[in-house]
Amino acid sequence: MSRVERLEELLRGEELDALLVTNLVNVRYLAGYTGTNGVCVMGNGVRRFFTDFRYVTQAEREVDASFDRVQGRQDLLEDAARSFPPGRVGFEDHHLTVRAYERLKGFVGEGVELMPAGRLVERLRAVKDAGELEHIREAAKLADEVLGALAERGMSGRSERDAALELEADMRARGSGPSFPSIVAGAANGALPHASPGERVIERGELVVVDLGCRVDGYASDCTRTFATGPVPDEASAVYDLVLETQVAALGEVRPGAECREVDAFARERIEAAGHGDRFGHGLGHGVGLEVHELPTLSRAGEGELAAGNVVTVEPGVYVPDRFGVRIEDLVAVGDDGPDVISSFPKELTTVG
Ligand code: ZN
Ligand code: ZN
Repeated sequence: MSRVERLEELLRGEELDALLVTNLVNVRYLAGYTGTNGVCVMGNGVRRFFTDFRYVTQAEREVDASFDRVQGRQDLLEDAARSFPPGRVGFEDHHLTVRAYERLKGFVGEGVELMPAGRLVERLRAVKDAGELEHIREAAKLADEVLGALAERGMSGRSERDAALELEADMRARGSGPSFPSIVAGAANGALPHASPGERVIERGELVVVDLGCRVDGYASDCTRTFATGPVPDEASAVYDLVLETQVAALGEVRPGAECREVDAFARERIEAAGHGDRFGHGLGHGVGLEVHELPTLSRAGEGELAAGNVVTVEPGVYVPDRFGVRIEDLVAVGDDGPDVISSFPKELTTVG
């Protein structure tokens, strides 16, 4: 089944006659369009794409031939709304602003009932097809190569910012680019899960968290390794071992039918049992695709079960305030029989210069 057919099935299940798609990532996923002004109206037999005159040529090149392409005004909401079929029309309530929703209400005709229907396309996007998996694998492979080059060069004596800039330059030199701002965080900065690399100079004998991803044809990868720049204190290597054991064990829980919440709990219980429960303050993982964070979510709040075709991260971490942090993150495809780990950079503690 094509993406559009899967969406039509979902709309029938939700008893919707059409869906207004305003989230550009979803527009891209359904129609192929990569510009910055476009919306779709999708429904039973309705596949309509709207953009303004600036993007008409691009839309002709990119938008799937099964769509009607409509040139609207720069503000596309009115044109799209005038084309709604009568009945229940969903809109992306997690995306549309309150202001845009108020305007939309003014445009719809008699017999149209607007229904909040957020994250329907996101639910489809959570299950990747073979082509998408190929792009994600390619992005992950590039990230592995970039990490390998970083390990060769070493990090001590340079600022975190320099090391991060170099990572991103390397990605671009390989024909890719970062899927999110790279993190290079040594010593106490490593205890901040989303540290932004600054002027601090990396010294010998510290743990350095490096979190990076590449992008290939719009698809992201996401990978973290924690390196040592020389011998580290016993406590740091004990925490490293705990995170590594937890990460490897949790990978084994990634399979179709596993409850997202349970996979997170499995890892969390191990870290709690080792006395570091309050030092693992984020979810175990998240879906990755056209966006770096998408469905499904492996966390205490994660909903539903894993399905074959999902691509998720598994990234436990322990953050010891003011001292150091350890995070190890792999990208994993959920295969029919279990985990298919996409990241391949070694996970034993690697000492670099
Ligand atoms: Zn990451
Ligand atoms: Zn991640």
